[in-house]
Amino acid sequence: MIADFDVPLGQKPVKPCRVCGAGGAVLHLRLLPQPGESVDQLLLFRCVSCASFYFDGDEPASAYESMPKSDSFWLDYVQVGAGISAMLAPLLALRPLPTTSLVDVGSGFGYIVDFWQRQGQRAVGIEPSSYGELGREKLGIDNRSCDLEGFIKAYPQERFGLVFSSEVIEHTSDPRRFVDALVTMMDDDATLILTTPSTSAISPQTESASLIAALSPGFHYTILSPEALVGMLSRHGLRVKTHTEGVQTFVWARRGAMPDVAVNEPQWTRYLCYLEDLSRVADRHVSGGALCRLFKDALNTGDSARAGKAYQCLLRAAEDSYGIRLEDPELSELLENTQSLAMLDRFPAWLGNALLFGALQVGFTRGDYRTKVRMLDAALRVLERRAHVEKQFGQEAAHFLPFARRQYQIALCEGLQTSLPYTETPFPEDLRRNLLSLQMLAAALTDRA
Ligand SMILES: [Zn+2]
Repeated sequence: MIADFDVPLGQKPVKPCRVCGAGGAVLHLRLLPQPGESVDQLLLFRCVSCASFYFDGDEPASAYESMPKSDSFWLDYVQVGAGISAMLAPLLALRPLPTTSLVDVGSGFGYIVDFWQRQGQRAVGIEPSSYGELGREKLGIDNRSCDLEGFIKAYPQERFGLVFSSEVIEHTSDPRRFVDALVTMMDDDATLILTTPSTSAISPQTESASLIAALSPGFHYTILSPEALVGMLSRHGLRVKTHTEGVQTFVWARRGAMPDVAVNEPQWTRYLCYLEDLSRVADRHVSGGALCRLFKDALNTGDSARAGKAYQCLLRAAEDSYGIRLEDPELSELLENTQSLAMLDRFPAWLGNALLFGALQVGFTRGDYRTKVRMLDAALRVLERRAHVEKQFGQEAAHFLPFARRQYQIALCEGLQTSLPYTETPFPEDLRRNLLSLQMLAAALTDRA
């Protein structure tokens, strides 16, 4: 679907605002189906009372029913798709991190539940989809296969010190009722943490992949404004703090004094330590996904000691779990396959990232430019395939491609320079010119590829 902001004036919604119940919303955008998509257009209205957005019509979130059931989804999710650092961010922003029980409503696979349990605290997940069951089995966590109302009915006395729900409220048809239910699970000193797509992302200036992700046509009912969230929670006598970061809104709420929230100080070490724990679980897809995130994020946050160790583990994991030698991979079977999310049990979704960042690691630590070029060449092919074949799953690959191409050009030039004989005198002018034209040729070749 594509978002069309050029909308007819004066079109009225059928439904009042799904967030605050007020009438008088204005049409903000239309989502138009593209050739081959068998879905109806969706109309997104902006409520003039609470500034939230909502999809009009009786059942705008019907995509779940038509979603094919496939093992590939969860493999992609644990291997690369789950944004574990983003999920942890609003929790790790609490200063100090409380020692108390946690419930994660809409816990999915259960990374937050697992993280909290590994801090030595009680943690319960509520997740009706099959991801909840998978997480329970793979992570050994208390992920309950029910919805929120089912849980409250079965355990009406349960109270928690942290009530957490990330990217769930926008999927509910009645967000006020959802918030009311969350508040009933808070103990007297509890902190409630919510995240949801930001209303500021719903703009023609937002890059299209982020805009479509925030709208998630067919999956979301509403995009709630910070004002609406504050209003809903204040009705329960809670104090509320909101923060918008990129395309997400974070909310923290409590009955008493607000805890300190440090949103601009990411807790990299805690996150990387969690990935180390996760890299030791028995399932090779879960552990491999943790290892690749650990390596990439340790490298990118300047923790070179951790990155070095993780790279060695990743080399072994790629070979033992998937039969892939990262520094000299055989990829023809993968590259010839044009089916989306194919063969993830043999070629993990993190392969392109591992090759790209592995090449940089080999360059930094060993100065082995031949291996570096070989790995970058493989990384480019794998990332290009992922970006083009996997479509919505390949957004990260598409994002990394320009960086990978630039690194490939740099590596070719490094290789050329180091293969020239050492001389005390500067390069003669004609040799320098030849070197420059080779660099330009390398750049032109990789740009064309
Ligand atoms: Zn409203």
